[in-house]
Amino acid sequence: MDRMDTAEDLGRARDLVASAGRIVALTGAGVSTDSGIPDFRGPNGLWTRNPAAERLSNLQAYISSKEVREESWRARTGHPGWLAEPNAAHRALVDLERGGRLHAIITQNIDRLHQKAGSDPDRVIELHGTMFDTVCLGCGDRRDMQEALQRVRAGESDPPCRACGGILKSATISFGQALDAEVLDRARTGALWCDLMLVAGSSLTVQPAAGLVGIAAGAGATVIVCNASETPYDSCASAVLRGPLSDVLPALV
Ligand code: NAD
Repeated sequence: MDRMDTAEDLGRARDLVASAGRIVALTGAGVSTDSGIPDFRGPNGLWTRNPAAERLSNLQAYISSKEVREESWRARTGHPGWLAEPNAAHRALVDLERGGRLHAIITQNIDRLHQKAGSDPDRVIELHGTMFDTVCLGCGDRRDMQEALQRVRAGESDPPCRACGGILKSATISFGQALDAEVLDRARTGALWCDLMLVAGSSLTVQPAAGLVGIAAGAGATVIVCNASETPYDSCASAVLRGPLSDVLPALV
């Protein structure tokens, strides 16, 4: 159930951040809603408003249906992420990193707003890939997304791979698609190593991303969850903050 954060909640969370030495953040779509990119499962989420949109994120549907691919390309050309700017939540994590205590941001986001805000790209672990590249599902050829979007704007409704003619997709992880093993390994190492995991803007319902919280807590890290709605990991958190992230994160750091 949603509730108001009290000064006591915020004070406790601030103390935990202030006393931590090895902080790792785990971020989700909620960090970017104030930048104009809707999440999936929040009150104004894409899937909350249109549950049928979920099939666009399913690998099997993408491979088997030209209609799904065409709809995906239309959605990509008009994606708010091309024009979005980072907000105060992204900038707060930059400040924490510059203070020398935030060592990695494990993000489920594909929008590169952490990097755009000034986070060190080497410290941003893009667990679910990036919308800025395409990848061929046949030969693995990887290119700049803008090249494919130009072809879509020029009339190709489902542009095939230039190298092999195979199916092109954004370089993001869909449901039914395995995560990059090396990227997941880096994320797990960060979760095991940190002494504080700061979760921000994730419903913590997508695995294996959400399980990183359990890994961190199991290895003895303190957990803070900042999310407007309840998550399955709230019970292992030492502090839970429900306020808007563009207020909560700057207040925390
Ligand atoms: P989610 O949609 O499941 O959950 C987002 C959570 O953030 C919700 O619980 C919501 O209540 C909360 N939230 C939204 N705005 C908030 C705000 N301003 N302040 C506080 N809380 C807020 O997102 P998820 O857990 O990241 O999982 C969804 C999947 O969708 C991920 O795999 C991700 O790759 C993808 N996705 C990414 C983007 C992006 O890159 N910006 C956008 C949509 C979806």
